[in-house]
Amino acid sequence: MIDLHCHLDLYPNPHEVIRQCRDLGIYVLSVTTTPQAWHGNTRIVEGCNRIRTALGLHPQLAHERYSELDLFDELLPLAIRYVGEIGLEGSRDWKPFADIQITVFRHILQSVTKAGGRILSIHSRAAVDAVLDHLAEYPQVGIPVLHWFSGNKTQLTKAIDMGCWFSVNPAMLRSKKGALLVQQVPLDRILTETDGPFAKHNKNSLMPWDVKIAESQLSQLWQIPEEEVVNRLHSNFKNLLNLIEK
Ligand code: MN
Repeated sequence: MIDLHCHLDLYPNPHEVIRQCRDLGIYVLSVTTTPQAWHGNTRIVEGCNRIRTALGLHPQLAHERYSELDLFDELLPLAIRYVGEIGLEGSRDWKPFADIQITVFRHILQSVTKAGGRILSIHSRAAVDAVLDHLAEYPQVGIPVLHWFSGNKTQLTKAIDMGCWFSVNPAMLRSKKGALLVQQVPLDRILTETDGPFAKHNKNSLMPWDVKIAESQLSQLWQIPEEEVVNRLHSNFKNLLNLIEK
């Protein structure tokens, strides 16, 4: 099982969740929302060799935390392979902060480019065109993984053409629109995620092991057995890692 976008530190009981992830052998990318959260996040997963921490600054927090960009740059050498959660949020409540979000996003893209590239877990809600436009200006930034993509078909095609990957979760796959989008993505560009504890399934916060649900949804969508889905996802993950030499 692979959960490529999960906020482990934001569960009410992170240690218990981490213990279960370890027992189940799940690969987890633990994304962070602020540079200040980096050390705490790496500390709680010490010794878990299948859990990696990504360095992030969430677009919904950009206007409150932009002063942490210096800290972001300082920590970036420690985030050997992964950056996230970063991106832009264009829905109504965050529109007033569009300028500072863009400043933060571009700063990060520039720093990551200078640092040689990373795998990036990217938020793009109601801001897909802008996210893709900024990414296009930093072609050496690494591999963008658009998490919980919710754009339209044209935007999806553009993202695929630009080399983006996609992490998909049960909430996304449950919706007709989400499932239709996922169907258009090449099989070799897809990974699973939960976006727990924010994303929910049947009113409960998704847990990392709920990527199982996404595996079964993908099996339905792709019309292939679940074991094949699992093999596919694992080989995708391996390929993704090989794209960023570390
Ligand atoms: Mn998230």
